Amino acid sequence: MPEGDAVIPVANKLQDIFSLVVATQDWHPADHGSFVASHPGRKIFEQIELSGLRQTLWPVHCVQNTPGADFAPQLRRERIARVFQKGTARDIDSYSALFDNGHRRSTGLGEWLKAKGIDDVWLCGLTTDYCVKFTALDAAALGFKVHVVEDACRGVNLKPGDAARAIEEMRRAGVAVLKAAEVQRV
Ligand SMILES: [Zn+2]
Repeated sequence: MPEGDAVIPVANKLQDIFSLVVATQDWHPADHGSFVASHPGRKIFEQIELSGLRQTLWPVHCVQNTPGADFAPQLRRERIARVFQKGTARDIDSYSALFDNGHRRSTGLGEWLKAKGIDDVWLCGLTTDYCVKFTALDAAALGFKVHVVEDACRGVNLKPGDAARAIEEMRRAGVAVLKAAEVQRV
């Protein structure tokens, strides 16, 4: 996506501030239901119903065991304590790093953070209006104090203004939105 790589140096720098760093990874089967290629005759970004949920159709991305699912090579990996994969079931998508889009299955991330005694989470990555937003909302609902580092995220903006609206929605849910330069050592 345009400017997606711009978040990497910011994310790399942020890692040094935190005691625990976790990564998430879209990890889709090749015939995932979120892919336009899995629905002949449908158009990219069209809305369909998938397992009873509204689903936007995306280009093929992040297919399991292919280079498309790899972390960007410039991303520092040595401080990442664990990688949580999402979107692994064919018939349901998972924008949030915590649950699938129907809240039917947990990825285990929330339970893992709670077991470690974590109260506060800081989020960055792609995309502001989908995966970051739904992760932030789910984390807030689980009782975490959630912070989103805005300049370490980028939006898809399928409709102009989607990312800005996502920021507002997160703020209304009690999420703190701040800039990387404002993140203090914690
Ligand atoms: Zn995906």
